[in-house]
Amino acid sequence: MSRTRIAAAELFCARCGRGVRRGAARWPEGYLCATCHTHALETYGRCAGCGVDRLTPGIAPDGGRLCTDCAGGLGEFFCELCGREARRHRRGVCGTCVLAERLSILLDDGTGRIRPQLIPFAEGLCRMSRPRSGLTWIANPHVQQMLRTLADPLTPITHETLNSLSPWRSVAYLRDLLMHHGVLPPADRQLVLFQRWLGEILAGIERPEHRQIVERFAAWHVQRRLRRFAERGPLTAKQSQQARAEIRRSIAFLAWLGDRGRGLGSCGQADIDAWYAGAYTARRLTHGFLRWAIRHQLLTPVTIPHQTTTNPAPITQKQRLATIHRLLTADDIPLLTRVAATLMLLYAQPLTRILRLSIDDVLHHGNQVSIRLGDPPSPVPEPFADLLLRHIDQRLNLTTATNPDARWLFPGRRGGQPMTPEALETRLRQHQIPGLRGRTAAIRQLVLQAPAPVVATMLGYHPDHTARLLTEAGATWSRYAAGDHTPR
Ligand SMILES: [Zn+2]
Ligand SMILES: [Zn+2]
Ligand SMILES: [Zn+2]
Repeated sequence: MSRTRIAAAELFCARCGRGVRRGAARWPEGYLCATCHTHALETYGRCAGCGVDRLTPGIAPDGGRLCTDCAGGLGEFFCELCGREARRHRRGVCGTCVLAERLSILLDDGTGRIRPQLIPFAEGLCRMSRPRSGLTWIANPHVQQMLRTLADPLTPITHETLNSLSPWRSVAYLRDLLMHHGVLPPADRQLVLFQRWLGEILAGIERPEHRQIVERFAAWHVQRRLRRFAERGPLTAKQSQQARAEIRRSIAFLAWLGDRGRGLGSCGQADIDAWYAGAYTARRLTHGFLRWAIRHQLLTPVTIPHQTTTNPAPITQKQRLATIHRLLTADDIPLLTRVAATLMLLYAQPLTRILRLSIDDVLHHGNQVSIRLGDPPSPVPEPFADLLLRHIDQRLNLTTATNPDARWLFPGRRGGQPMTPEALETRLRQHQIPGLRGRTAAIRQLVLQAPAPVVATMLGYHPDHTARLLTEAGATWSRYAAGDHTPR
Protein backbone atom coordinates (compact mmCIF):
# COMPACT_ATOMS: atom_id res chain seq x y z
CA MET A 1 0.00 0.00 0.00
CA SER A 2 1.36 3.39 -0.93
CA ARG A 3 1.13 6.28 1.46
CA THR A 4 1.56 9.93 0.65
CA ARG A 5 3.17 12.26 3.13
CA ILE A 6 0.26 14.71 2.70
CA ALA A 7 -1.98 12.45 4.80
CA ALA A 8 -1.51 14.67 7.82
CA ALA A 9 -4.01 15.00 10.66
CA GLU A 10 -5.40 18.24 9.29
CA LEU A 11 -6.74 16.45 6.19
CA PHE A 12 -9.31 14.74 8.36
CA CYS A 13 -12.63 16.38 9.19
CA ALA A 14 -12.38 18.38 12.42
CA ARG A 15 -15.89 17.28 13.40
CA CYS A 16 -16.32 13.64 12.37
CA GLY A 17 -12.71 12.55 11.76
CA ARG A 18 -13.36 11.17 8.28
CA GLY A 19 -10.92 11.98 5.50
CA VAL A 20 -11.71 15.13 3.55
CA ARG A 21 -11.23 15.90 -0.11
CA ARG A 22 -8.89 18.56 -1.34
CA GLY A 23 -10.65 21.90 -1.60
CA ALA A 24 -12.81 21.18 1.46
CA ALA A 25 -14.00 24.10 3.56
CA ARG A 26 -11.45 25.21 6.13
CA TRP A 27 -12.76 26.79 9.30
CA PRO A 28 -10.72 27.90 12.32
CA GLU A 29 -11.27 24.47 13.91
CA GLY A 30 -9.86 22.71 10.81
CA TYR A 31 -11.10 21.10 7.60
CA LEU A 32 -14.75 20.09 7.35
CA CYS A 33 -16.01 17.20 5.26
CA ALA A 34 -18.88 17.93 2.88
CA THR A 35 -21.43 16.27 5.16
CA CYS A 36 -20.44 18.18 8.28
CA HIS A 37 -20.14 21.42 6.32
CA THR A 38 -23.63 21.08 4.84
CA HIS A 39 -25.10 20.05 8.17
CA ALA A 40 -23.49 23.05 9.91
CA LEU A 41 -25.01 25.44 7.37
CA GLU A 42 -28.47 23.94 7.73
CA THR A 43 -28.52 24.23 11.52
CA TYR A 44 -30.55 27.05 13.01
CA GLY A 45 -31.22 27.86 16.65
CA ARG A 46 -30.36 30.08 19.56
CA CYS A 47 -26.67 31.05 19.60
CA ALA A 48 -24.97 30.01 22.83
CA GLY A 49 -22.81 33.16 22.62
CA CYS A 50 -25.16 36.07 21.83
CA GLY A 51 -28.54 34.38 22.38
CA VAL A 52 -29.86 35.41 18.93
CA ASP A 53 -31.99 32.98 16.93
CA ARG A 54 -30.21 32.52 13.60
CA LEU A 55 -27.93 30.23 11.63
CA THR A 56 -25.60 28.48 14.09
CA PRO A 57 -22.88 26.69 12.13
CA GLY A 58 -20.22 27.01 14.83
CA ILE A 59 -19.60 24.78 17.81
CA ALA A 60 -18.57 26.24 21.20
CA PRO A 61 -15.89 24.47 23.30
CA ASP A 62 -18.69 23.18 25.57
CA GLY A 63 -20.56 21.78 22.56
CA GLY A 64 -23.17 24.57 22.28
CA ARG A 65 -24.12 26.04 18.88
CA LEU A 66 -22.63 29.36 17.80
CA CYS A 67 -23.57 31.91 15.13
CA THR A 68 -20.93 32.99 12.60
CA ASP A 69 -20.24 36.22 14.49
CA CYS A 70 -19.63 34.47 17.81
CA ALA A 71 -17.68 31.58 16.27
CA GLY A 72 -15.67 33.91 14.06
CA GLY A 73 -13.94 33.13 10.81
CA LEU A 74 -16.69 30.91 9.36
CA GLY A 75 -17.72 33.37 6.68
CA GLU A 76 -20.71 35.42 5.66
CA PHE A 77 -23.99 33.61 4.81
CA PHE A 78 -26.60 36.26 4.14
CA CYS A 79 -28.23 35.77 0.73
CA GLU A 80 -27.73 38.71 -1.60
CA LEU A 81 -31.18 38.24 -3.10
CA CYS A 82 -33.50 37.47 -0.17
CA GLY A 83 -31.34 38.45 2.77
CA ARG A 84 -31.94 35.17 4.55
CA GLU A 85 -28.99 33.60 6.33
CA ALA A 86 -28.49 30.21 4.71
CA ARG A 87 -26.13 27.89 2.96
CA ARG A 88 -25.29 29.29 -0.42
CA HIS A 89 -26.06 27.33 -3.49
CA ARG A 90 -24.32 29.73 -5.80
CA ARG A 91 -21.97 32.57 -5.05
CA GLY A 92 -23.86 34.95 -2.76
CA VAL A 93 -27.24 33.29 -3.37
CA CYS A 94 -29.07 30.85 -1.09
CA GLY A 95 -30.59 27.52 -2.20
CA THR A 96 -34.15 28.78 -1.81
CA CYS A 97 -33.54 31.64 -4.24
CA VAL A 98 -31.94 29.28 -6.75
CA LEU A 99 -34.85 26.86 -6.36
CA ALA A 100 -37.37 29.67 -6.93
CA GLU A 101 -35.45 30.80 -9.99
CA ARG A 102 -35.37 27.31 -11.52
CA LEU A 103 -39.04 26.65 -10.75
CA SER A 104 -40.04 29.92 -12.40
CA ILE A 105 -38.37 28.70 -15.59
CA LEU A 106 -39.70 25.12 -15.42
CA LEU A 107 -43.27 26.17 -14.58
CA ASP A 108 -43.42 29.10 -17.00
CA ASP A 109 -46.68 28.83 -18.95
CA GLY A 110 -45.30 30.84 -21.86
CA THR A 111 -46.16 34.24 -20.45
CA GLY A 112 -42.87 34.56 -18.57
CA ARG A 113 -44.61 33.68 -15.29
CA ILE A 114 -45.44 30.53 -13.42
CA ARG A 115 -48.75 28.98 -14.52
CA PRO A 116 -51.17 30.48 -11.94
CA GLN A 117 -52.61 27.14 -10.81
CA LEU A 118 -49.11 25.98 -9.93
CA ILE A 119 -48.10 29.00 -7.83
CA PRO A 120 -49.10 27.38 -4.48
CA PHE A 121 -47.02 24.35 -5.43
CA ALA A 122 -43.94 26.46 -6.31
CA GLU A 123 -44.28 28.54 -3.16
CA GLY A 124 -44.72 25.40 -1.08
CA LEU A 125 -41.53 23.91 -2.51
CA CYS A 126 -39.61 27.07 -1.71
CA ARG A 127 -40.69 26.91 1.91
CA MET A 128 -38.80 23.65 2.34
CA SER A 129 -36.33 23.93 5.20
CA ARG A 130 -33.68 22.20 3.10
CA PRO A 131 -33.93 23.59 -0.44
CA ARG A 132 -31.06 21.29 -1.39
CA SER A 133 -33.42 18.27 -1.62
CA GLY A 134 -35.80 20.28 -3.81
CA LEU A 135 -32.92 21.29 -6.06
CA THR A 136 -31.76 17.70 -6.33
CA TRP A 137 -35.30 16.61 -7.17
CA ILE A 138 -35.90 19.15 -9.93
CA ALA A 139 -32.47 18.40 -11.38
CA ASN A 140 -33.79 15.00 -12.55
CA PRO A 141 -34.50 15.16 -16.28
CA HIS A 142 -37.74 13.18 -15.89
CA VAL A 143 -38.96 15.52 -13.14
CA GLN A 144 -38.21 18.50 -15.35
CA GLN A 145 -40.17 16.83 -18.12
CA MET A 146 -43.16 16.28 -15.81
CA LEU A 147 -43.09 19.87 -14.57
CA ARG A 148 -42.89 21.28 -18.10
CA THR A 149 -45.88 19.13 -19.08
CA LEU A 150 -47.90 20.52 -16.16
CA ALA A 151 -46.84 24.08 -16.98
CA ASP A 152 -48.32 23.84 -20.47
CA PRO A 153 -51.61 25.79 -20.32
CA LEU A 154 -53.17 23.26 -22.70
CA THR A 155 -52.63 20.42 -20.21
CA PRO A 156 -55.33 20.07 -17.57
CA ILE A 157 -53.82 19.71 -14.12
CA THR A 158 -55.71 16.62 -12.99
CA HIS A 159 -55.08 13.20 -11.51
CA GLU A 160 -55.74 11.80 -15.00
CA THR A 161 -52.90 13.84 -16.46
CA LEU A 162 -50.55 12.58 -13.77
CA ASN A 163 -51.59 9.01 -14.57
CA SER A 164 -50.23 9.44 -18.06
CA LEU A 165 -46.81 10.49 -16.77
CA SER A 166 -43.90 8.31 -15.79
CA PRO A 167 -41.87 7.03 -14.03
CA TRP A 168 -44.14 5.84 -11.34
CA ARG A 169 -42.38 6.81 -8.17
CA SER A 170 -41.68 10.36 -9.28
CA VAL A 171 -45.32 10.73 -10.33
CA ALA A 172 -46.47 9.47 -6.92
CA TYR A 173 -44.21 11.98 -5.19
CA LEU A 174 -45.35 14.84 -7.42
CA ARG A 175 -49.00 13.87 -6.87
CA ASP A 176 -48.47 13.98 -3.09
CA LEU A 177 -46.92 17.43 -3.35
CA LEU A 178 -49.70 18.74 -5.60
CA MET A 179 -52.36 17.40 -3.24
CA HIS A 180 -50.48 18.70 -0.22
CA HIS A 181 -50.38 22.22 -1.63
CA GLY A 182 -54.00 22.09 -2.71
CA VAL A 183 -53.32 22.09 -6.46
CA LEU A 184 -54.99 18.69 -6.88
CA PRO A 185 -58.02 17.54 -4.89
CA PRO A 186 -57.19 14.80 -2.39
CA ALA A 187 -57.49 11.40 -4.03
CA ASP A 188 -59.41 8.52 -2.51
CA ARG A 189 -57.69 7.31 0.64
CA GLN A 190 -57.62 3.66 -0.40
CA LEU A 191 -56.29 4.72 -3.77
CA VAL A 192 -53.50 6.74 -2.22
CA LEU A 193 -52.60 3.86 0.08
CA PHE A 194 -52.62 1.54 -2.91
CA GLN A 195 -50.34 3.86 -4.84
CA ARG A 196 -47.89 4.05 -1.99
CA TRP A 197 -47.93 0.27 -1.65
CA LEU A 198 -47.45 -0.08 -5.38
CA GLY A 199 -44.42 2.21 -5.38
CA GLU A 200 -42.81 0.04 -2.73
CA ILE A 201 -43.61 -3.28 -4.35
CA LEU A 202 -42.38 -2.08 -7.74
CA ALA A 203 -39.11 -0.94 -6.20
CA GLY A 204 -38.69 -4.46 -4.81
CA ILE A 205 -38.80 -6.17 -8.22
CA GLU A 206 -35.26 -7.13 -9.06
CA ARG A 207 -35.39 -7.55 -12.82
CA PRO A 208 -35.92 -4.20 -14.56
CA GLU A 209 -37.83 -5.77 -17.47
CA HIS A 210 -40.30 -7.33 -15.03
CA ARG A 211 -40.66 -4.08 -13.13
CA GLN A 212 -41.41 -2.23 -16.34
CA ILE A 213 -44.16 -4.66 -17.37
CA VAL A 214 -45.80 -4.68 -13.93
CA GLU A 215 -45.59 -0.89 -13.80
CA ARG A 216 -47.42 -0.63 -17.10
CA PHE A 217 -50.00 -3.19 -16.06
CA ALA A 218 -50.57 -1.32 -12.80
CA ALA A 219 -50.87 2.08 -14.44
CA TRP A 220 -52.99 1.13 -17.40
CA HIS A 221 -55.15 -1.62 -16.07
CA VAL A 222 -55.33 -1.95 -12.29
CA GLN A 223 -55.22 1.71 -11.36
CA ARG A 224 -57.50 2.77 -14.14
CA ARG A 225 -60.11 0.34 -12.85
CA LEU A 226 -59.65 1.53 -9.26
CA ARG A 227 -60.10 5.10 -10.38
CA ARG A 228 -63.32 4.23 -12.18
CA PHE A 229 -64.57 2.69 -8.95
CA ALA A 230 -63.40 5.71 -6.95
CA GLU A 231 -65.43 8.04 -9.17
CA ARG A 232 -68.59 6.30 -8.00
CA GLY A 233 -67.73 6.40 -4.31
CA PRO A 234 -64.96 5.62 -1.86
CA LEU A 235 -62.98 2.51 -2.77
CA THR A 236 -63.68 -0.49 -0.58
CA ALA A 237 -60.90 -2.40 1.13
CA LYS A 238 -61.91 -5.44 -0.89
CA GLN A 239 -61.47 -3.62 -4.21
CA SER A 240 -58.03 -2.49 -3.20
CA GLN A 241 -57.08 -5.93 -1.86
CA GLN A 242 -58.08 -7.51 -5.15
CA ALA A 243 -55.92 -4.98 -6.99
CA ARG A 244 -52.93 -5.77 -4.76
CA ALA A 245 -53.41 -9.50 -5.22
CA GLU A 246 -53.48 -9.04 -9.00
CA ILE A 247 -50.22 -7.11 -8.92
CA ARG A 248 -48.62 -9.73 -6.67
CA ARG A 249 -49.75 -12.57 -8.93
CA SER A 250 -48.40 -10.81 -12.01
CA ILE A 251 -45.02 -10.43 -10.29
CA ALA A 252 -45.09 -14.09 -9.21
CA PHE A 253 -46.01 -15.18 -12.71
CA LEU A 254 -43.15 -13.26 -14.33
CA ALA A 255 -40.68 -14.62 -11.76
CA TRP A 256 -41.97 -18.15 -12.30
CA LEU A 257 -41.69 -17.70 -16.05
CA GLY A 258 -38.17 -16.36 -15.60
CA ASP A 259 -37.21 -19.48 -13.65
CA ARG A 260 -38.30 -21.50 -16.66
CA GLY A 261 -35.94 -19.44 -18.75
CA ARG A 262 -38.72 -17.52 -20.46
CA GLY A 263 -40.11 -14.02 -20.72
CA LEU A 264 -43.61 -12.90 -21.70
CA GLY A 265 -42.55 -12.80 -25.34
CA SER A 266 -41.51 -16.45 -25.41
CA CYS A 267 -44.31 -17.73 -23.19
CA GLY A 268 -46.55 -20.31 -24.84
CA GLN A 269 -49.65 -22.33 -24.11
CA ALA A 270 -47.65 -25.07 -22.36
CA ASP A 271 -46.31 -22.50 -19.90
CA ILE A 272 -49.78 -21.12 -19.24
CA ASP A 273 -51.13 -24.64 -18.69
CA ALA A 274 -48.31 -25.45 -16.30
CA TRP A 275 -48.89 -22.21 -14.41
CA TYR A 276 -52.55 -22.96 -13.88
CA ALA A 277 -52.14 -26.67 -13.26
CA GLY A 278 -53.36 -27.64 -9.84
CA ALA A 279 -53.35 -24.17 -8.37
CA TYR A 280 -56.26 -22.66 -10.20
CA THR A 281 -57.72 -20.72 -7.29
CA ALA A 282 -54.53 -18.91 -6.38
CA ARG A 283 -53.68 -18.24 -9.99
CA ARG A 284 -57.12 -17.12 -11.10
CA LEU A 285 -55.89 -13.66 -10.20
CA THR A 286 -53.47 -13.70 -13.14
CA HIS A 287 -56.39 -13.74 -15.64
CA GLY A 288 -56.47 -9.94 -15.79
CA PHE A 289 -52.74 -9.64 -16.28
CA LEU A 290 -52.60 -12.27 -19.03
CA ARG A 291 -55.56 -10.77 -20.92
CA TRP A 292 -53.99 -7.35 -20.65
CA ALA A 293 -50.64 -8.70 -21.90
CA ILE A 294 -52.37 -10.36 -24.88
CA ARG A 295 -54.28 -7.16 -25.71
CA HIS A 296 -51.05 -5.21 -25.70
CA GLN A 297 -49.22 -7.84 -27.74
CA LEU A 298 -46.74 -8.58 -25.01
CA LEU A 299 -47.93 -12.18 -25.00
CA THR A 300 -48.96 -14.32 -27.95
CA PRO A 301 -52.66 -15.23 -27.74
CA VAL A 302 -53.11 -18.22 -25.45
CA THR A 303 -56.13 -19.89 -23.95
CA ILE A 304 -56.55 -18.95 -20.32
CA PRO A 305 -58.03 -21.84 -18.36
CA HIS A 306 -61.45 -21.06 -17.05
CA GLN A 307 -63.11 -22.82 -14.17
CA THR A 308 -66.45 -21.90 -12.76
CA THR A 309 -65.72 -23.26 -9.32
CA THR A 310 -63.60 -20.78 -7.48
CA ASN A 311 -62.91 -23.09 -4.59
CA PRO A 312 -62.29 -26.76 -5.34
CA ALA A 313 -64.19 -29.04 -3.00
CA PRO A 314 -62.00 -30.72 -0.39
CA ILE A 315 -61.06 -34.24 -1.33
CA THR A 316 -63.06 -36.95 0.45
CA GLN A 317 -61.88 -40.38 1.55
CA LYS A 318 -64.13 -41.89 -1.09
CA GLN A 319 -62.51 -39.77 -3.79
CA ARG A 320 -59.06 -40.61 -2.48
CA LEU A 321 -59.74 -44.33 -2.65
CA ALA A 322 -61.39 -44.06 -6.06
CA THR A 323 -58.41 -42.14 -7.44
CA ILE A 324 -55.88 -44.60 -5.97
CA HIS A 325 -57.89 -47.43 -7.43
CA ARG A 326 -57.88 -45.77 -10.83
CA LEU A 327 -54.12 -45.13 -10.62
CA LEU A 328 -53.50 -48.79 -9.87
CA THR A 329 -55.50 -50.04 -12.79
CA ALA A 330 -55.30 -47.41 -15.53
CA ASP A 331 -52.66 -48.76 -17.87
CA ASP A 332 -53.27 -45.87 -20.27
CA ILE A 333 -51.68 -43.45 -17.79
CA PRO A 334 -47.87 -43.42 -17.80
CA LEU A 335 -46.42 -45.34 -14.89
CA LEU A 336 -44.44 -42.34 -13.68
CA THR A 337 -47.59 -40.24 -13.31
CA ARG A 338 -49.41 -43.07 -11.58
CA VAL A 339 -46.61 -43.63 -9.08
CA ALA A 340 -46.16 -39.98 -8.21
CA ALA A 341 -49.87 -39.40 -7.66
CA THR A 342 -50.22 -42.63 -5.70
CA LEU A 343 -47.40 -41.62 -3.34
CA MET A 344 -49.04 -38.26 -2.75
CA LEU A 345 -52.40 -39.82 -2.00
CA LEU A 346 -51.04 -42.68 0.09
CA TYR A 347 -48.61 -40.74 2.25
CA ALA A 348 -49.90 -37.15 2.09
CA GLN A 349 -46.55 -35.86 0.89
CA PRO A 350 -46.31 -32.53 -0.90
CA LEU A 351 -45.48 -32.71 -4.56
CA THR A 352 -42.14 -31.02 -3.99
CA ARG A 353 -41.14 -33.69 -1.44
CA ILE A 354 -42.16 -36.54 -3.77
CA LEU A 355 -40.02 -35.02 -6.52
CA ARG A 356 -36.94 -34.93 -4.29
CA LEU A 357 -37.02 -38.70 -3.77
CA SER A 358 -34.19 -40.72 -5.25
CA ILE A 359 -34.20 -44.41 -6.09
CA ASP A 360 -31.98 -44.89 -3.03
CA ASP A 361 -34.93 -43.82 -0.89
CA VAL A 362 -36.71 -47.02 -1.89
CA LEU A 363 -35.54 -49.77 0.45
CA HIS A 364 -35.91 -53.56 0.27
CA HIS A 365 -35.85 -55.96 3.17
CA GLY A 366 -36.66 -59.38 1.85
CA ASN A 367 -40.12 -59.08 0.39
CA GLN A 368 -40.86 -55.88 2.23
CA VAL A 369 -40.46 -52.58 0.37
CA SER A 370 -40.34 -49.29 2.20
CA ILE A 371 -39.81 -45.70 1.21
CA ARG A 372 -37.77 -43.09 3.05
CA LEU A 373 -40.22 -40.20 3.39
CA GLY A 374 -39.07 -39.65 6.95
CA ASP A 375 -37.58 -41.63 9.75
CA PRO A 376 -38.38 -44.50 10.05
CA PRO A 377 -39.13 -45.33 6.41
CA SER A 378 -42.77 -46.00 5.59
CA PRO A 379 -43.71 -49.51 4.48
CA VAL A 380 -45.05 -49.76 0.96
CA PRO A 381 -47.60 -52.57 0.90
CA GLU A 382 -48.65 -54.47 -2.16
CA PRO A 383 -50.01 -53.68 -4.66
CA PHE A 384 -48.25 -50.29 -4.45
CA ALA A 385 -44.79 -51.81 -4.02
CA ASP A 386 -45.15 -53.58 -7.33
CA LEU A 387 -46.17 -50.35 -9.07
CA LEU A 388 -43.21 -48.52 -7.55
CA LEU A 389 -40.65 -51.20 -8.45
CA ARG A 390 -41.94 -51.46 -12.01
CA HIS A 391 -41.54 -47.70 -12.32
CA ILE A 392 -37.94 -47.89 -11.05
CA ASP A 393 -37.13 -50.59 -13.61
CA GLN A 394 -38.62 -48.56 -16.45
CA ARG A 395 -37.04 -45.39 -15.25
CA LEU A 396 -33.55 -46.91 -15.12
CA ASN A 397 -33.92 -48.25 -18.63
CA LEU A 398 -35.01 -44.90 -19.93
CA THR A 399 -32.50 -42.66 -18.29
CA THR A 400 -29.24 -44.51 -17.81
CA ALA A 401 -28.14 -43.99 -21.39
CA THR A 402 -28.41 -40.23 -21.36
CA ASN A 403 -28.11 -39.41 -17.70
CA PRO A 404 -26.36 -42.18 -15.80
CA ASP A 405 -25.91 -40.16 -12.62
CA ALA A 406 -29.52 -39.15 -12.18
CA ARG A 407 -30.84 -41.18 -9.33
CA TRP A 408 -33.99 -39.13 -8.94
CA LEU A 409 -37.12 -41.20 -8.70
CA PHE A 410 -38.70 -38.68 -11.08
CA PRO A 411 -35.85 -37.32 -13.19
CA GLY A 412 -36.39 -34.07 -15.02
CA ARG A 413 -35.45 -33.06 -18.50
CA ARG A 414 -32.60 -30.93 -17.25
CA GLY A 415 -29.48 -32.92 -16.45
CA GLY A 416 -29.07 -33.78 -12.79
CA GLN A 417 -32.40 -32.22 -11.83
CA PRO A 418 -35.63 -33.86 -10.74
CA MET A 419 -38.82 -33.14 -12.63
CA THR A 420 -40.32 -29.74 -11.85
CA PRO A 421 -43.60 -29.54 -9.89
CA GLU A 422 -45.15 -27.80 -12.89
CA ALA A 423 -44.20 -30.60 -15.25
CA LEU A 424 -45.72 -33.16 -12.94
CA GLU A 425 -48.85 -31.06 -12.47
CA THR A 426 -49.26 -30.86 -16.22
CA ARG A 427 -49.05 -34.65 -16.43
CA LEU A 428 -51.63 -35.04 -13.67
CA ARG A 429 -53.95 -32.66 -15.45
CA GLN A 430 -53.58 -34.46 -18.75
CA HIS A 431 -55.04 -37.55 -17.13
CA GLN A 432 -57.80 -35.77 -15.22
CA ILE A 433 -56.21 -36.54 -11.88
CA PRO A 434 -57.58 -33.81 -9.62
CA GLY A 435 -55.11 -31.14 -8.55
CA LEU A 436 -53.25 -32.49 -5.56
CA ARG A 437 -51.00 -29.54 -5.00
CA GLY A 438 -51.81 -27.62 -1.86
CA ARG A 439 -54.05 -30.42 -0.67
CA THR A 440 -51.42 -32.13 1.49
CA ALA A 441 -53.04 -31.06 4.74
CA ALA A 442 -56.45 -32.32 3.64
CA ILE A 443 -54.99 -35.63 2.46
CA ARG A 444 -53.07 -36.03 5.73
CA GLN A 445 -56.38 -36.22 7.60
CA LEU A 446 -57.48 -38.99 5.29
CA VAL A 447 -54.17 -40.81 5.74
CA LEU A 448 -54.66 -40.82 9.51
CA GLN A 449 -58.02 -42.50 9.03
CA ALA A 450 -56.75 -44.91 6.40
CA PRO A 451 -52.98 -45.41 6.10
CA ALA A 452 -51.43 -47.23 3.16
CA PRO A 453 -51.94 -50.84 4.43
CA VAL A 454 -55.59 -50.09 5.23
CA VAL A 455 -56.08 -48.61 1.78
CA ALA A 456 -54.61 -51.75 0.28
CA THR A 457 -57.12 -53.84 2.21
CA MET A 458 -60.00 -51.52 1.40
CA LEU A 459 -59.20 -51.76 -2.26
CA GLY A 460 -59.53 -55.51 -2.03
CA TYR A 461 -55.96 -56.49 -1.74
CA HIS A 462 -55.18 -58.71 1.21
CA PRO A 463 -51.69 -60.12 1.69
CA ASP A 464 -52.93 -63.27 3.43
CA HIS A 465 -55.41 -64.26 0.83
CA THR A 466 -53.94 -64.51 -2.59
CA ALA A 467 -56.03 -62.74 -5.16
CA ARG A 468 -59.02 -62.43 -2.89
CA LEU A 469 -60.55 -59.33 -4.26
CA LEU A 470 -63.37 -57.54 -2.57
CA THR A 471 -64.12 -54.75 -4.95
CA GLU A 472 -63.15 -56.23 -8.22
CA ALA A 473 -62.77 -59.74 -9.41
CA GLY A 474 -60.64 -60.64 -12.33
CA ALA A 475 -57.33 -60.35 -14.00
CA THR A 476 -56.53 -56.71 -13.26
CA TRP A 477 -56.18 -57.32 -9.58
CA SER A 478 -54.82 -60.81 -9.51
CA ARG A 479 -51.40 -59.76 -10.63
CA TYR A 480 -50.96 -57.74 -7.48
CA ALA A 481 -51.27 -60.87 -5.38
CA ALA A 482 -48.35 -61.49 -3.04
CA GLY A 483 -47.30 -64.69 -4.76
CA ASP A 484 -47.10 -63.02 -8.13
CA HIS A 485 -44.69 -60.42 -7.02
CA THR A 486 -41.12 -61.22 -7.80
CA PRO A 487 -38.64 -59.40 -5.55
CA ARG A 488 -36.12 -57.42 -7.52
ZN1 LIG B 1 -17.18 15.62 8.95
ZN1 LIG C 1 -23.91 34.61 18.33
ZN1 LIG D 1 -31.98 33.88 -0.90
